[in-house]
Amino acid sequence: MDDRRKRRCSFCGRAEDEVGLLITGMNGCICNECAAQANEIVKESMKKAGAGVPDLKWDELPRPKEIKEFLDQYVIGQDDAKRYLSVAVYNHYKRLMQPRSADDVEIEKSNIIMVGSTGTGKTLLARSIAKLLKVPFTIVDATVLTQAGYVGEDIESILSRLLQVADYDVEQAERGIVFIDEIDKIARKGDNPSITRDVSGEGVQQGLLKLLEGSVVNVPPQGGRKHPEQKFIQVNTQNILFICGGAFDGIERKIAQRLNTHVVGYGAVKQTVQIDRGNLMQYIAPQDLKSFGLIPEIIGRLPVLTYLNPLDRTALRNILTEPKNSIVKQYIKLFEMDGVKLEFEPEVFDYIVDKAIEYKLGARGLRSIVESIMMDTMFEIPSQKAESFIVTLDYAKQQMAKANLSRLQTA
Ligand code: ADP
Repeated sequence: MDDRRKRRCSFCGRAEDEVGLLITGMNGCICNECAAQANEIVKESMKKAGAGVPDLKWDELPRPKEIKEFLDQYVIGQDDAKRYLSVAVYNHYKRLMQPRSADDVEIEKSNIIMVGSTGTGKTLLARSIAKLLKVPFTIVDATVLTQAGYVGEDIESILSRLLQVADYDVEQAERGIVFIDEIDKIARKGDNPSITRDVSGEGVQQGLLKLLEGSVVNVPPQGGRKHPEQKFIQVNTQNILFICGGAFDGIERKIAQRLNTHVVGYGAVKQTVQIDRGNLMQYIAPQDLKSFGLIPEIIGRLPVLTYLNPLDRTALRNILTEPKNSIVKQYIKLFEMDGVKLEFEPEVFDYIVDKAIEYKLGARGLRSIVESIMMDTMFEIPSQKAESFIVTLDYAKQQMAKANLSRLQTA
């Protein structure tokens, strides 16, 4: 084509074959790169004008009850944890909105720790609450963290994630919420502190303490040490809310020990409350975390301690069908897209729950079991002219017998 007749970007002058994409307007064009740059400029100037950081408005904030009702749509049971979380998030907003130096009362943050076996909904709670938050939120896994100088990720990488979510807007990131999963994995191994260097345990806890306490941290923007040339960004963690979660496998033993020792002695006579031995987690106290291997300083920085209940039959059964995006609803939707109405006989749900309990898979196993039952149908039905499909108990049993059960058991 004649060079002069080619369409060009009205900003950088490059021709359409020199750019990725050229968007045509009424009197000119803009290329993808100039559009991206323009977007940056707009964002920058909005921020300067104070419009970039969406201000929290008191009247628009969800109250703790509303937060809990929202969580109820996604997470079955776990009422205690939901209440604690709702209040914590609400207080977090309050703290962000407190007028500076109006009086001497300064609301300090209350980081949270949630304890409960795997697959009881800790991460789900965190993810669900993220949907409703008006501040940046990220989930990080404590297992990848190591003490500075060792293979793994530096503690500061936690903040890199938050920065990324906040689009590198430091002011926004400094009001964010971080969920640290598997915090129990950085517990000190063994009771004897620092006989040997404990790379993944106490050192990491010390590092984490700095963040929890509130300090100014130098954060590598991309996280990790793979980009030594990158400049650090300073992030103040004073207002960042940390929510930690962990399974703390075996902590029930520590709780039982503590409860037992308390029963002995004078107190025993007064102790009239019946202890529910089936669910010791509900009696968890800070000293149990210490016995498990968290350092007292960390525990002190996580003043809100809550627990998740083990999931019983009814809970598992509800998880299958009740939540807003329950597993069953997801399959019905999948089939709907093929024009097929999918139905389950109610007994099938009980059967699935039985299997999940039998294989000790908890809620995590529900999906794999449904997947095994539905596999063949999902393969066949898109090529058939079927309008509906009913999963009967017999069909479910037959499919489960065919499925490779040993695979599920070790899942
Ligand atoms: P955890 O973080 O406690 O190990 P998750 O939150 O990752 O467990 O739960 C694993 C899966 O199990 C979730 O994706 C969800 O489908 C299901 N699940 C677990 N607990 C619940 C619950 N209380 N309500 C609804 N679904 C749940």
